[in-house]
Amino acid sequence: MIGTAIASTVLVIFTSLQVDAQLQTPGFIPEGNLTSQSAPPKLNDFLVAAELSSSSLPVPQAHPLPSTLVQWQYTTGAGDYFSDVKLTPVGYLVWFRFPVKVYVARPLDQAEASPSIQRFDNWVEAVLQAVQEWGVYLPLEVIAQPEGADISILRSRPPLQASLNRETGQFNLPRARSAETNYEFYLSTAVDRNIEADTGESQGTASHQIPQLNATQSEPVLSQRFTIQLSPDQTVEYTLATARHELGHALGIWGHSPLETDTMYFSQVRNPPQISVRDINTLKRIYEQPTRLGWSLVSQPSREE
Ligand SMILES: [Zn+2]
Repeated sequence: MIGTAIASTVLVIFTSLQVDAQLQTPGFIPEGNLTSQSAPPKLNDFLVAAELSSSSLPVPQAHPLPSTLVQWQYTTGAGDYFSDVKLTPVGYLVWFRFPVKVYVARPLDQAEASPSIQRFDNWVEAVLQAVQEWGVYLPLEVIAQPEGADISILRSRPPLQASLNRETGQFNLPRARSAETNYEFYLSTAVDRNIEADTGESQGTASHQIPQLNATQSEPVLSQRFTIQLSPDQTVEYTLATARHELGHALGIWGHSPLETDTMYFSQVRNPPQISVRDINTLKRIYEQPTRLGWSLVSQPSREE
């Protein structure tokens, strides 16, 4: 095992960017420029980091489905839009430790009763409702502090971004967007939540007991982390709809539905849809796929033979 040690502090490997060109106003919306506005992932950085640590990317494998998705039955002819979900350089963006920890921004001074705090509270309430809705299908836990969050939902305006018009060579004027979701990958050495959960369930073992980690489980695994910037400038109804949509991305649906009756339709509509059967059919298919996430880097044999 010479030369296979991986510094467990090696973190953020690369960041990719997803842009939702959703409009502030309800009604018609052309999106369609997701691709042209997405920054290409810096896979090279990742490969260099992996090479430096004498390791290579984990082999893609499927994870066991969480029970919430095991229970989900593919129904009737509703179908899905799995073919519109984008593959990332590490495979599908499947969560593998549950519950997924979600941090939602809060007002600094919660005791103060000003109109701006009230608006913030309304925003929080809408976001928490979206978390609760997805929580039916994937175990989610809202945490009070941003540290250790898998998904952070921040109350901020996404940065304006100009896009290049390829025909004219001119930059289009940037426009306000309602949300933006980013992800990054890192090597996680955190105590495995699955192990804690398993210990707690077996024979009623007291959950405060510290589980024994074996060597495999304590190895750093390739992990993902999401940040959602969600505008403070929308009505409660659209904050909920946007939070629902962006959470869908952060839970692994990295793409859009062509039907406006799905939460993951590519733009805002006048009457925002609930999470649909097709949304969950798609989610389940994603979670059935192999991914490099959640697995240890593979040690390379020494080159001197
Ligand atoms: Zn989107």
